[in-house]
This record gives sequence, structure tokens and C-alpha cells, in this order.
Amino acid sequence: MNFLIGTVLFAMLQGHRVGMTVAPARLHPGSPFMVNVSGLVTGTTYTIEFDKRTLHFTGSGTAAVLLGVNLGHPEGEDSIELYGKGIAAPLTAVSIDVHSHDYPSQYLKLPKKFVELTPAELKRAMHEQRELDKIFASDRTATLWRGDFILPVHGIITTPFGVKRFLNGEPRSAHTGIDIAGKAGTPVVATNDGIVCFEGNLFFGGNSILINHGQGIYSMYFHLGKYAVKNGAQVKKGQAIGYIGDTGRVTGPSLHFGIRIVDSKIDPELLFLLTSKK
Ligand SMILES: [Zn+2]
Repeated sequence: MNFLIGTVLFAMLQGHRVGMTVAPARLHPGSPFMVNVSGLVTGTTYTIEFDKRTLHFTGSGTAAVLLGVNLGHPEGEDSIELYGKGIAAPLTAVSIDVHSHDYPSQYLKLPKKFVELTPAELKRAMHEQRELDKIFASDRTATLWRGDFILPVHGIITTPFGVKRFLNGEPRSAHTGIDIAGKAGTPVVATNDGIVCFEGNLFFGGNSILINHGQGIYSMYFHLGKYAVKNGAQVKKGQAIGYIGDTGRVTGPSLHFGIRIVDSKIDPELLFLLTSKK
């Protein structure tokens, strides 16, 4: 048997051994989901491809990988493909059906200064967005999160995820996090274990903190009054990272909390539900 045939046979055998399942079965734009992979060879790096996004991971026998359907993902079929190192064809693939979801619309009337940006403000906001996008797209460190993701502060969710917003009649971008109302000074806690990867003042977000939870998962906390941790700090789930405030573009004390999974905008409330079932 020549080397090439041997390699192909090895790939086929490996393909037969590796299994992949996705839960939950019903998904829509903004849904997180868990990919459970079995039959992994210890010490080997595997790659999952979904929606033009790539995630590398390792496992001993099995692995649970958290992914999500981006808020802007079109309806219809898509597939999640698992690749082994050095093998061009996928070891296995699972197709998913992305269902349509009717996110509500919100019409707000606000003073002009909240709606219209000066050219300098617009320039600043766009620069900051590019910087944040770089963070979300770059690092794919090992898993730091464990168990369930928790609500960072208890309070009424005033604006849920995905809401289509109209300011003074003008359509704006959809809401990519949840707004939680709270008293100024109330501690805000880390949703899970991770490393603080951004701490600073943003035009829209005000005093903001981002936490890297590993494997492409980030949480963000906007409109804080004060910070309780420094950039680079290792934080534990439930640890205070800041305090509710009204910094940035916001009409009153509240926390904007957002989740990115491998560069996809995900509904935090669905993430709490998915990870608490485990
Ligand atoms: Zn918000």
C-alpha cells in the first residue's frame, strides 16, 4: 500500500469514528448552540467551520464547543463542518436549519443631541467599533469559561436583544445586547471566568469592560460608573468588575450587556438558558 492510499484510508477511518451533534435543534439568528464532538484523538487540533468562521479546538475523546448563529444570518440551511489537521475533506458535517425570528421594533423619541452625531463624534465611534471588531475577530485562546453564564446584574431588562430600533422615526442598527436597568453604584459581576481584555471609555458605551472567556467568546459591559478591575485581570464568575452608571450614550443608569461568540452577535438570555441546562 502506498503512502497516499494509507493516508486516505486513515482519514476515512477517522471520519467513521468522529461524531458531532448540535443542540438545541431549533435555531434562529442570535441563537447560541452547543456542538458536542466525540471520537477525538488526544493531542490533535480540530477545526470547526461555520458561517465563514473558524474555530480550532482540542479534546480528549469528547469536546463541547459553544457557537452561535449571528444576528444577521439569513434564514435557511447552513452546515457545521469538522476538519482534522492536514485532511482537506471534512471528517463530518451537521446541517442546521436557521428559522426566521420576529424581533420586536422599538420607537424612541429622544432629544436631537442623542440622535445626531457631529463628524468628530462619528469618526470616534467608527474608530472604536473597528478596534472592538479586531478584538472579537482575533483571539481564540483556550477555554476559560465553565458551566453556566450568569446575569451580570439583577434588574428589569428594558431592551431585549435583537430589537429593531427607530430613533425619532429613523431606522437604526438592531440592539445587539440586553439593557438592564439598575441603581447607580450597583455592582456588575463577570458572567463567567475570563480575562479582562478591554477597559476604557467608548463614545456609545461610556466606561466599558470586555472579558475574554476563551474559544472566541467575549462579554461586554457598557455605561459603567466606576471600574472594579483593571485591564488584563483574571476574573471569576460572579466577581464584581464595575458598578452601574450612566456613562456614554444612555438616558439613565443601566447596563448594556452583550455577548459575541466567534464574531457572531448572540442573545445573552438564550446563552444563560442553554448553559444552565447542562
Ligand atoms: Zn443597549
